[in-house]
Amino acid sequence: MQPIEAKNYINGVWKASTTGKTFESRNPANTNEIIGTAPDSAAADVDEAVAAARNAFHKWSQLSWVTRADYLDKFAQLIKRDLQEMSRLVTRECGKPINEGRADVVETLHMVQFAASLGRMPVGSVISSEIPEKDAYIRRKPKGVVGCITPWNFPMAIPMWEICPSLVSGNTVILKPSEETPLCAHHLISLMHEAGFPPGVVNIVHGMGETVGAPLTAHPNVDVILFTGSYNVGKLVQKQAANDAYKFAATEMGGKNAVIVLSDADLNIAVPAGILSAFKTSGQRCVTSNRIIVDKKIVDEYQEKFVQMADRIKIGNGLSEDVFMGPLINKEGVQKFLFHNQKAREEGADVLRNGGVLEGPEFECGNFVSPFIYRMDYRPNTFCLREEAFSPHVAIIPCDGVENAVEIYNDTDYGLAMAVCTEDYRKWRYVRDNAEYGLGYVNLPSIGAEVHLPFGGVKKSGNGHPSAEGLLEAVTHRTAFTVNFGGEIKMAQGLSAKL
Ligand code: NAD
Repeated sequence: MQPIEAKNYINGVWKASTTGKTFESRNPANTNEIIGTAPDSAAADVDEAVAAARNAFHKWSQLSWVTRADYLDKFAQLIKRDLQEMSRLVTRECGKPINEGRADVVETLHMVQFAASLGRMPVGSVISSEIPEKDAYIRRKPKGVVGCITPWNFPMAIPMWEICPSLVSGNTVILKPSEETPLCAHHLISLMHEAGFPPGVVNIVHGMGETVGAPLTAHPNVDVILFTGSYNVGKLVQKQAANDAYKFAATEMGGKNAVIVLSDADLNIAVPAGILSAFKTSGQRCVTSNRIIVDKKIVDEYQEKFVQMADRIKIGNGLSEDVFMGPLINKEGVQKFLFHNQKAREEGADVLRNGGVLEGPEFECGNFVSPFIYRMDYRPNTFCLREEAFSPHVAIIPCDGVENAVEIYNDTDYGLAMAVCTEDYRKWRYVRDNAEYGLGYVNLPSIGAEVHLPFGGVKKSGNGHPSAEGLLEAVTHRTAFTVNFGGEIKMAQGLSAKL
């Protein structure tokens, strides 16, 4: 296939970067295959995109929600048209198996449809005033120019989690996509161009985190930053954004999630729930579970079945429909996997499957690894049980009852996703109320987001501004507006209006 040449898209025009430089995006399943190139941009490109977005803001924000939603509806039709092509592009550019590539695009479509549907939903409320002659309203106002900085692992869905609610509520947007997946982002913006969004309403500037993400975050004319990515970068983003005292940054970050399997769990659910949580997307989901916390009464049986099922996982190029695990995204991802495995060994892991780099002709051009599975008794403050491995690295940790399971679950600075397998409603209620998470599941894996639910975490996983459904809160101001219909001024709280 011919490599795709992505450009920046600023004020409705496709442009090379002011640096004149480009970078390559390669297929992680076959690093000899160049998917395409994208501009290696700099602060000057960011300045231009911010000026375009600022310029477009007034007119766009004056349109009705219904009219703005109509643009999104046109965009949704184009995604339906291109769904198969886009799914293959996701798989080729980030390595996910094709069923996951398709799910990424379907989720993208759902987000666009959900945001378009908001155009005809109530967006504020009428509230009683103490004074009968007054009407009081809560209204939503767009904040202005929104900078979106996104990761590679959901290269189509996550940009749209951030962009669509921003646009329908009247903001204009600059997207800085991951440098690992620029062509997926390019395809989305091409469709938005085709859908006819007015110039400047949506812009894309490709490039690296330090040279594009940092100036976008710190830009005085950007009102909001929506960041999804790792904790270390999210922390930096908060600092960069804080240089402008007024700037708001929503940061959704990593996780050290877990599946809790209690003694009465149905193993026909709990075993596949563990497998899907640990190994879907090769463990590279923010909601991946690196920990399976299993009651000691059933841990031996669980472990045996879990390992047997893991042994059936097919690893390879995700374009084959029967592949379950594709490659890791890049060499750094492989190094991180090996580092976490080594730390686990040093910390006393009983290694059940000694996963590592795969060799042989099928694997030699890609970043393929096999699952690393170990059993480990819980000790507080253990690195391998607390830090995100972002790879197929999983610990089976015996626990003693539901309270101990939650204690182990909470021993991490993260709090993103949690699943509990039990048939006892009192136990799952205890977990629901005592575990620290943003996304909770019962008798399910810890993965499985839907766009009409908020997506985000607590503690180091997020600062309380979830993506998807919850995002309108981050990109709009809730304003109070009160109108007097009486012939004189009457004040609330009994306050006198007399001179
Ligand atoms: P990353 O943090 O390395 O990069 C995310 C984005 O930040 C990229 O676009 C990158 O270019 C940009 N960036 C890097 N340095 C920057 C800087 N100084 N200023 C501004 N931007 C900068 O993350 P990644 O490797 O792309 O994705 C994996 C991480 O994302 C994992 O930790 C995963 O858990 C997390 N994640 C979280 C969620 C969620 O909703 N909570 C969803 C998906 C992924």
